[in-house]
Amino acid sequence: MVRYINVKSRTRTEFIDITEKIQEMIKEAGISNGVCYLFVPHTTAGITINEGADPSVQRDIQTYLNKLVPFEGDYHHREGNSSAHIKASIIGVSAVVFVEEGKLVLGTWQSIFFCEFDGPRHRRVSVKFTAGDRKQA
Ligand code: ZN
Repeated sequence: MVRYINVKSRTRTEFIDITEKIQEMIKEAGISNGVCYLFVPHTTAGITINEGADPSVQRDIQTYLNKLVPFEGDYHHREGNSSAHIKASIIGVSAVVFVEEGKLVLGTWQSIFFCEFDGPRHRRVSVKFTAGDRKQA
């Protein structure tokens, strides 16, 4: 069973913290131990796990991605959003996180971010859980 998280971006590039939404989904699904697979079914958006405590980190990542791959450039793609496609490929469209005792196993400072590169748009993230080890009866 694949579940979906709806995400609404408000600007052209934006990192949206979806950690809590995924955590709620784990609770609703009643998953205690297993693996959480996250996949972004879009060509101009991605997903990353990085620092959630200091918002400057997300800002810095976006600033330097924009410097690395500017909005305007010698691109061939006629839709005019090649920089968003390139950023999506650099960042990637999937992530895997373990689940233990009903909680995402993340590092102290880690959060899961949906990465918009061609907003504002309505987006979604697909989520799949697989059950892991079970306690012996
Ligand atoms: Zn395009």
